[in-house]
Amino acid sequence: MEIKITKTACPKEKPDSSSLGFGKIFTDHMFVMDYSREKGWYDARIVPFGPFEIHPASTVLHYGSEIFEGLKAYRREDGKVQMFRPIENIRRMNSSAERLCLPQIDEDMAMEILKTFVKCEEDWTPSAPGTSLYLRPFMYGNDETLGVHAVHNARFMIIASPVGSYYKEGINPVKIMIEDQDVRAVRGGTGYAKCGGNYAASNRAGERAEQKGYSQVLWLDGVERKYIEEVGAMNVMFKINGEIVTPALTGSILPGITRKSCIEVLKREGYTVSERLLSIDELEKAMADGTLEEAWGCGTAAVVSPIGELSYKGEIFTVNEGKIGDVTQKLYDTLTGIQWGKIEDSFGWICPLD
Ligand SMILES: *Cc1c(COP(=O)(O)O)cnc(C)c1O
Repeated sequence: MEIKITKTACPKEKPDSSSLGFGKIFTDHMFVMDYSREKGWYDARIVPFGPFEIHPASTVLHYGSEIFEGLKAYRREDGKVQMFRPIENIRRMNSSAERLCLPQIDEDMAMEILKTFVKCEEDWTPSAPGTSLYLRPFMYGNDETLGVHAVHNARFMIIASPVGSYYKEGINPVKIMIEDQDVRAVRGGTGYAKCGGNYAASNRAGERAEQKGYSQVLWLDGVERKYIEEVGAMNVMFKINGEIVTPALTGSILPGITRKSCIEVLKREGYTVSERLLSIDELEKAMADGTLEEAWGCGTAAVVSPIGELSYKGEIFTVNEGKIGDVTQKLYDTLTGIQWGKIEDSFGWICPLD
């Protein structure tokens, strides 16, 4: 496959690593590739980053056919740049695409695109501790008609943003509100797909929680509002009486790569990890009798985010005295150690650029 590269005539100045937030600054280029049922994927190209035209009837603007991925490139101490389990993101993107009737991208082709693009933007990977180059591949339905059907045309793009350390002021446990009204997803719906629509539907609850001083909501299942699903846009794990419990992937939960990595690390460390249904009643009981030892969210942006306080129907429970727990800390150290190349990657998760 040929990727045509058009370099920008006016490269931007690289930002100071202390001014990096999340997804506010973008690199000099972006990857674009179009799809039609007749031609398949065509016109793979890297072009200067910037706004582009879209047809006012484009499917994505009306019917929300959009999926995305999120992964990072990390700069090691020796200056080399590496990615963390990118093949998992590629496979998940194809699974999301299948759910939304968007086209598949061949795994090898997707990997070649990702590597070529990251190599092109490599200089944008910051080196200050905890910083990285966030990669955002996304795909949308792009038919220029208002008819409702599986699309015939699509576009795939990748943009990249140098991002700051998630924990500039140290790892502070967050306050979480258990959401008992809105739901994020239902089985049979799009919960397991990483699609923009799931986020659009989540915003109201997130906004309400924020207004009450909480940083995220804990989602319950969409049918009975009984089983724990996720926390904000992260997967969630608990340590209850020595057992690590995380909701099973029943269809309404996003199969996080950080979740999967945490499970693999924990199993290797000898912990009992159960992927199972966890009801709010069981969690409430564990909070009340003190057997809830730790709770944390996990996702690419934060790696792990310890939960220090949980509120349910007006009652407030403190987890591990509001401090980060040993298991959460261990996961953070192990995963970030592998990602930034500070500890040996005995799992084979690291993907060097060449
Ligand atoms: C992306 C995402 C996650 C975390 O997935 P990672 O692959 O670990 O980054 C969890 N939940 C939702 C809803 C997500 O969109």
